[in-house]
Amino acid sequence: MDLLDISNISIVNLKGIGSETERKLNEIDIYSIYDLLQTFPSRYEDYSINSLDELIHNEKATLIGEIVSLPNISYFAKNKNRLSFKISVGEVIIQVNLFNQGFYKGKLELTDTVTISGKWDKYKLSITGQLVKKGIKEDTEALDPIYPLKGVIPNFQFKKLISKALDQFNDNLLEILPYKLLSLYKIPCIKDTYNAIHKPVNREVLKHARRRIIYEELLLFQLKIQALKRINRLNKNGTMIPIDYKEINNFISQNIPFTLTNAQSKVLNEIFTDLIATYPMNRLLQGDVGSGKTVVAAVALFAAVSANFQGALMVPTEILAEQHYETMTKIFMNTNIKVKLLTSAIKGKARESIYNEVEGNIINIVIGTHALLNEKLKFSNLGLVITDEQHRFGVDQRKILREKGSDPNVLFMTATPIPRTLSITAFGEMDVSTIDELPKGRKGIKTYTISKKEFTKVLDFLEKEINKGRQAYFICPLIEESEKLDLNNAYDLYEQLSSHYSGKAEIGLMHGRLNDKDKEEVMQKFINNKIQILVSTTVVEVGVNVPNATLMIVNDAERFGLAQLHQLRGRVGRGQDQSFCILVADAKTDVGRERLKIMTETNNGFEIAEKDLQIRGPGDFFGAKQSGLPEFKIADLVHDYRALEVARQDASKFINDAEFWTSNEYKGLKEQLDKDINLSQVILD
Ligand code: ADP
Ligand code: MG
Repeated sequence: MDLLDISNISIVNLKGIGSETERKLNEIDIYSIYDLLQTFPSRYEDYSINSLDELIHNEKATLIGEIVSLPNISYFAKNKNRLSFKISVGEVIIQVNLFNQGFYKGKLELTDTVTISGKWDKYKLSITGQLVKKGIKEDTEALDPIYPLKGVIPNFQFKKLISKALDQFNDNLLEILPYKLLSLYKIPCIKDTYNAIHKPVNREVLKHARRRIIYEELLLFQLKIQALKRINRLNKNGTMIPIDYKEINNFISQNIPFTLTNAQSKVLNEIFTDLIATYPMNRLLQGDVGSGKTVVAAVALFAAVSANFQGALMVPTEILAEQHYETMTKIFMNTNIKVKLLTSAIKGKARESIYNEVEGNIINIVIGTHALLNEKLKFSNLGLVITDEQHRFGVDQRKILREKGSDPNVLFMTATPIPRTLSITAFGEMDVSTIDELPKGRKGIKTYTISKKEFTKVLDFLEKEINKGRQAYFICPLIEESEKLDLNNAYDLYEQLSSHYSGKAEIGLMHGRLNDKDKEEVMQKFINNKIQILVSTTVVEVGVNVPNATLMIVNDAERFGLAQLHQLRGRVGRGQDQSFCILVADAKTDVGRERLKIMTETNNGFEIAEKDLQIRGPGDFFGAKQSGLPEFKIADLVHDYRALEVARQDASKFINDAEFWTSNEYKGLKEQLDKDINLSQVILD
């Protein structure tokens, strides 16, 4: 008889399971034996037996003793009771109080041996807690699994079900990892793993079982995304864009006012390699703030357009769209490339005409916001799609834009450097290019924290910068007074600064509730130095580029996350002059203080990203739920980064190795993988 995969065996096959229990298990998404056994304990209660001399007052103790007085029961409150009796542990008589275990009353007799666990009181010589076992709890049962059951089913009952499943379906636990790997990493086989995780005989055994599950989870996940990557590579329908290097070099020397950094040239070559190839580009471009991603995008767009394809650049905010539009218009000024801006602010006839000209291939490059996703926008031959600050867009939005062409080349640019563990998970199926160098001559931004009490110092410093001809941003967390949060608001600050610097500087106010026209006007004034101090909420956070601005002041800085502070700081330090960042804050929490300290210690976005990940955890790193991060049962992206790296390397080796595809040893892994993606698409050359 062929053995069934436990994911195909319903829990109704568990001997003695009733429809009531089945229904309860379904409620917590347990349908198959696999689901049941894959419900891992969230923690273990430790019932290692203590000797009396190691007990600590008010801490947990587990004792074995003999009953020397019959139990008394007392009831208090509704459904609450206390059972009290005495036991002897060696020569010592100890008072036992059990809560809500009244059902033991008739079942305990003098001289019975019991195992009790609870809080130890050294003055009263008492232990208050639970009867763990009638009889002696063996050391091998000391770790008691506690399952995440949401109160649907009692823990002890669930433990019995698990036990049954392990016995009854022991032979169906099929190993998917090749023996080679088990022995290489010294990890237990599947049967030992399930036994150890559900019934650990000691911490050591449990540790190895967890190691195995973590590795298996991460390996399967990495196999999946590496297979997807390979499927993309094998796709021969990509838009092939021939590259004329000479023409491109001419374009750069004539239209870009500076020499590209080595890092910029390197990533451009990586992009070109993709453009020429038969597969569609699927690349993530990351670089620290100010590293010059925009120019890279411009050159890539030039390459596409000079090969007669169209290009699209999508950004998350109007401000950014305007700014990119201006930059690109300048760069392409002396070419015959036609660039247009499309945002929701452009309406009626103007909009219709853009639609027509894009469809008629008269417009070569469209830059815009979500407006680009409108179904009326149709391209004649879209060859390259770029999204900037892409973490703000959801996976689905990226897909819509991509589908406007036939397998166009796609480049995602991110504002914030992404920690490696996240980039190889959330974006693992993409190729990654990194600009790891800033343009020459940039001076590191000097960052200081200052208490709110010393606000006048901030004002004096600001005045000095203005007198040097520089400009400044002044960031506030909220637009309007919120009594609850007690935040300084942008309006108040705007008024305060206007009167303080009256006759000395022009102040502007920018926030999310201004309409598009007003936003644009304020921004233009700041760009043209008609405004010297821009009071703003975080709408200027991403991408804004005004090189004459040298001072970034962030009010209530403790309210911002690290990545956000780094983004804000990245608005200055964009020119040749020394720039400063002042964080005004009275951090009340350790995490808040830690964040501010990190900001003053480093300007390196990659370091900050790693720290941010440690502080916030992977779920919150991208802010929104749209990060596309997978959920693991046990593996933790921060904690298990080494295992992740090992799994990634193994997966990459397997996917590109003929032996993996032909050998029976990997059958289990391949079958598992095939449940997720259709492996028949992965053919070997
Ligand atoms: P980001 O990577 O944050 O999007 P930008 O593309 O806005 O950075 O570039 C930041 C600033 O650096 C811009 O003013 C840009 O013109 C300038 N810049 C970009 N590349 C270079 C370079 N190779 N040399 C000098 N300045 C550069
Ligand atoms: Mg940018």
